[in-house]
Amino acid sequence: MQCAPISNSADIVIIGGGVIGCAAAYELSGAGLDVVVLDKGPIGGAASSASAGLIVPLHATDDGQRTPLFDLYWASSCIFPQLVSELEETTGIQVDYDPSGSMRVAADDNEQDLLRESFRGWEAMEELTVEWVDGNSLRRDEPGLSPEIRCGVISTDEQSIHPGRFTHALARGALGRGAQIRTGCPATTIRHQDGRFLGVTTAEGDIDACELLIAAGAWSRVPCAWLGVDVPISPARGQMLSLRPVAESLSRPLFSYNGAVLPKPDGTIHVGATVELVGFDTRTTAGGIATVLEIVPRLVPGLSDAAMEAAWSGLRPWCEDGIPAIGRLPGCEGITIASGHFKMGILGSPITARTVKNLVVDNVIDPLIAPFSPNRFLEVNA
Ligand SMILES: Cc1cc2nc3c(=O)[nH]c(=O)nc-3n(C[C@H](O)[C@H](O)[C@H](O)COP(=O)(O)OP(=O)(O)OC[C@H]3O[C@@H](n4cnc5c(N)ncnc54)[C@H](O)[C@@H]3O)c2cc1C
Repeated sequence: MQCAPISNSADIVIIGGGVIGCAAAYELSGAGLDVVVLDKGPIGGAASSASAGLIVPLHATDDGQRTPLFDLYWASSCIFPQLVSELEETTGIQVDYDPSGSMRVAADDNEQDLLRESFRGWEAMEELTVEWVDGNSLRRDEPGLSPEIRCGVISTDEQSIHPGRFTHALARGALGRGAQIRTGCPATTIRHQDGRFLGVTTAEGDIDACELLIAAGAWSRVPCAWLGVDVPISPARGQMLSLRPVAESLSRPLFSYNGAVLPKPDGTIHVGATVELVGFDTRTTAGGIATVLEIVPRLVPGLSDAAMEAAWSGLRPWCEDGIPAIGRLPGCEGITIASGHFKMGILGSPITARTVKNLVVDNVIDPLIAPFSPNRFLEVNA
């Protein structure tokens, strides 16, 4: 990716070039702002490229109850079709967008009861299209499924995307709209005076700006701490792997209560993922990969013969109450945070970017993000 030379002033600096920072850069530069994105590594090099790329809003309402998180992520999922065609056309990056839906399955009494309960809730939500299917009918469409699977729910609302390419397309789209992107350039402190943001110090010099967006993923607690504010975002490691099956085994993403098996356009199957609170340790481990592999024979027995191609991990940004922090940081005018999207940052990126633009450009708090204000955590210590 071609990066313009860094300038020493901007309307807004974004710390973090993951999917959240790049989506925000795309929206904000589209609104005419002079945007600089800083990343200490490459674009999308952290959680965003490690992701499974699922755009699955039902995950935000596992128990079938409508919540503010579901409303936020449903609104986000509805943006994808238009956003993807706009990005593919303007950037030339193909993002493997697949709107063909998903299935959730149950393999024992307990799982069947849980899934039935969720299904009742999903069925009552008018925006969702879900269907209850017995095990034999599922296997007619997906012959590779285990005979142990008793039933499932098909959703035609869910989508998937190549998360790394999507992040790069957002970054390239932002560049095309005049944003500057600086990789390998960590922000090292935030300059502020009399309760007003002044700029960011980087490894390559100072940048003065009117506004700052903290979108530093699992590291977002660090820039908040520079301001004397504690937003409790921590890393939650996820390990995944990819398999190369000998024959076609599955046509759409499959979720169970123990993990997911995900067919990809390149013919591989991705399987995952663990959720581990182990700090900033990005290793893939024997125990983690063993846990992930356990689900394969239980769901799609034929995959036991597949070749292992790769294993990887990423650090999801996890807020201690499980929901993201999106909104103005109190105590210092001109600073916004958008982080803590945990398992759903790819899904949540378009609506996060739009609502951040509304905040920064129009000073409007969209009702969709009101429940996610960082004020819920905050005591200002400095
Ligand atoms: C295994 C796995 C599977 C997942 N599957 C899905 C899925 O299917 N669907 C979904 O929606 N989500 C999924 N997620 C979650 C999703 O990947 C994350 O929620 C999302 O990528 C978070 O994006 P982000 O931009 O906040 O963070 P990141 O992508 O981590 O980006 C943050 C960036 O900030 C940079 N940074 C940090 N500190 C500084 C600093 N001081 N200066 C400059 N740069 C800095 C980092 O280098 C990094 O590039 C998955 C995650 C994992 C790990």
